[in-house]
Amino acid sequence: MIAVGDELLEGRTADTNSGRIQRALGQHSVQVGGIQVVPDTQQAIMQALDRTTVGDIVFMTGGLGSTPDDISRDVVAEWAGVDLPEDATVRKQLEKRWARLGRKAGVGVQRQCQVPDRMQAMTNPVGSAPGLTGELKGRILVLLPGVPEELQGLLPLAVAWLNEQGFLPAERQTLLWRTGQIAELSLVRKLEDVVGKFPGFQWSWWLTPWGVDVRAAADINQTEILSQLSDLENEVTGQLGSLVYSRKMHSLPEVVQSLMLKKNLTLSVAESCTAGMIGARMTDLAGSSGFFRGGILAYADPVKHNLLDVPLETLDNHGAVSQSVVVAMAEGAKKRLGTDYSIAVSGISGPGGGTDEKPVGTTWVAVATPERTFAGLYRFPADRERNRLLTVAVAVDSLRRSLEFGPMQSPWNDDDTWCLLSR
Ligand code: ATP
Repeated sequence: MIAVGDELLEGRTADTNSGRIQRALGQHSVQVGGIQVVPDTQQAIMQALDRTTVGDIVFMTGGLGSTPDDISRDVVAEWAGVDLPEDATVRKQLEKRWARLGRKAGVGVQRQCQVPDRMQAMTNPVGSAPGLTGELKGRILVLLPGVPEELQGLLPLAVAWLNEQGFLPAERQTLLWRTGQIAELSLVRKLEDVVGKFPGFQWSWWLTPWGVDVRAAADINQTEILSQLSDLENEVTGQLGSLVYSRKMHSLPEVVQSLMLKKNLTLSVAESCTAGMIGARMTDLAGSSGFFRGGILAYADPVKHNLLDVPLETLDNHGAVSQSVVVAMAEGAKKRLGTDYSIAVSGISGPGGGTDEKPVGTTWVAVATPERTFAGLYRFPADRERNRLLTVAVAVDSLRRSLEFGPMQSPWNDDDTWCLLSR
């Protein structure tokens, strides 16, 4: 992949396009060999193209626009030694677009009608610059605009073109388990035996904001290997049990939202150290108002007391980061906001505030169900930012487990070891 753009090198924009392309290709089991991020100069783009090898699929993003620094199309033509004529069909389409928008075609825009010889244009469903595909100098080239929405719009067309041309390997059958509250290495260890039993599959482990994903994949033409699929599925699912929050590409908040809505339940949150981050994640998806009532951002002790009814003696005797306070917070939010469930968190995210007894990372998480309130003590090993993100992940996952296990049962199991000190 070649991501073109000065802004990517100056830190103004992070290269997210390469990730989008990787994900689109991953479904077709294409391994990305590397990403080059280069400035908008002829020399840099040429060198990047020279570094690719015959037979490569090369995605290039950016530099297809109408400003003078958008030179990808010209450089590709020059690098391949082909002409860059105007394409009548593209011109007609763009003229229609200009007319619709009431614009006059300027010189820059007219350059977007040019298509290098031996390349074809793909109509951009979002913006103006067409995507370009073709085989030049033995490389299979796909040029896409830099604007992420435009790239996203063209990506399915590009992948379909690669497929039609037979450039993509056989599709794969993939099984996915999305897990929470287990470290990557513990997960690898847990599945060591199963992986050993099914060596024909390709296994991968991916860290996500909510935990770790495990994938087992095989090409669809590997029939003998695929015949073991259901045995493998049963074994992994049995091993992982309640660590798995989804078997599809659903995020943890998506899973929680769907469980809450299905069971017709309501949720509130009481957040100290995360100060609203859990509430934000619970409302990421449309439809969240069907279950999420709101929360109390109880950062300071008087707020815990005044708005969540945490007794002053409890705060004085045990400190804000304690089991009795987090339990009272969850129960206070549940009662004050009139919900079926509530989650509360209180922790020391760092870098300051830690003591010998309660070092940085010490965090209590409580889940109040309609029947009982459960609390777990975690110790996260990271810095402030990551400790807070981990708090959000475990709080939401503990709620997910609670919804799956039922209101009388603790969300934590005996074999939970990941950062959980007690429960
Ligand atoms: P335009 O018509 O806007 O000029 P273009 O195809 O020439 O489109 P660029 O000018 O390179 O694309 O980039 C346009 C904008 O898209 C950039 O300002 C940047 O915000 C975003 N962008 C470009 N490349 C990437 C990338 N690799 N990842 C994320 N965003 C990107």
